[in-house]
Order: sequence, then C-alpha cells, then structure tokens
Amino acid sequence: MNVLLKAVVARTIALAVNGETMIRKLLQKIKEKISSRQEHTNRFLKFYYAHHRRLLKERRSTYYTKREKGICVRCSRKSLAGIIFCSYHQKMQKGYNQKARAK
Ligand SMILES: [Zn+2]
Repeated sequence: MNVLLKAVVARTIALAVNGETMIRKLLQKIKEKISSRQEHTNRFLKFYYAHHRRLLKERRSTYYTKREKGICVRCSRKSLAGIIFCSYHQKMQKGYNQKARAK
C-alpha cells in the first residue's frame, strides 16, 4: 500500500514538473511571437530575432563539429594543434583579448 502511494506521489510530481516545463516553453513561444512582431531597426535584426533560436543551435553544432575535425571555428582553414583557431584567427583573438583585458 505504502509503495503504491509512493508511486502515485512520484507520478504526480513528474506530471507537475512536465506541466511546468510545458508552460515555460509555451510562455517562451508567446514571448518570441511578441518580439517578432516588434519593429526592428533593420531587416537583418528582424531576421535575427525571428530565427535566433534555430541560428544559435546551428552555430553551436557547427562549432563542435569544426572543433572535432580540427577546422578553425571562424573560417574553414585548418586549426593549429591544441586550439580551435587557424593562425590568422589566433592572431586576431590575441588582439581581442588584449583589448578586453585593458578595459
Ligand atoms: Zn580561421
């Protein structure tokens, strides 16, 4: 009896958690709909806000596949051993880091 009760409680909690994530996802979608209707300063920003979730996913997956294959994550040249950039982008990155640290 006690085991059955525990199972019922666990199932109820699982359903509640699922419901909560579903509501959160729904709210997220509504927010996106609202933000996609807003006026944007230019068509590029409008496109970005309309597709940013998919774009971010794609960029993230490209980053990981490039990193695994030893290709620079900013271009299509071969990356240097042990890092994710080619020699050109490593040089650029060094400049960005210096600028950021100087602030
Ligand atoms: Zn590169």
